Amino acid sequence: MRTQRQVVDYSLRKRAVLRELLAGRVGTYDVCDASPYLKNAARFHGEPTEERCPICRSENLTHVHYIYGDELKHSAGQARTLTELPVLAMTLREFQVFVVEVCLGCDWNHLVEQYLLGRDGLAGDTEDGAEQGAVGGTAASAAVPGPAARRRREAQR
Ligand SMILES: [Zn+2]
Repeated sequence: MRTQRQVVDYSLRKRAVLRELLAGRVGTYDVCDASPYLKNAARFHGEPTEERCPICRSENLTHVHYIYGDELKHSAGQARTLTELPVLAMTLREFQVFVVEVCLGCDWNHLVEQYLLGRDGLAGDTEDGAEQGAVGGTAASAAVPGPAARRRREAQR
């Protein structure tokens, strides 16, 4: 989506977890612990991917998109399909999206990335200070964009 901003990529953290697993420092039961809620969200709102599960290698991963933000009120923390996100992005000023990958075969799950969506990102004439002011809410403290995220944002312009 073109309006994604403050993207935080968790692929390094995922690779670290997989390394720990290979080295035997964590067991599969530690990382394959998807809750019934997460698995239901994957079944009903998930986005199928072509990516094989790194653990069981028999199922493809499903991406679940969780949305957070003050404007969402009671919908905060719910899963949404990928097609619903652009609609929300048109109606809300700003909300946070967390993408989680889940394997419905072995229950592997891991955070893939997080980003902000919303109308605030569509306006081309916002002043530079707007971005700092827009950071708020529960998940925002974890949303400090790294250099990679910033580079990706630059590339989108
Ligand atoms: Zn699996």
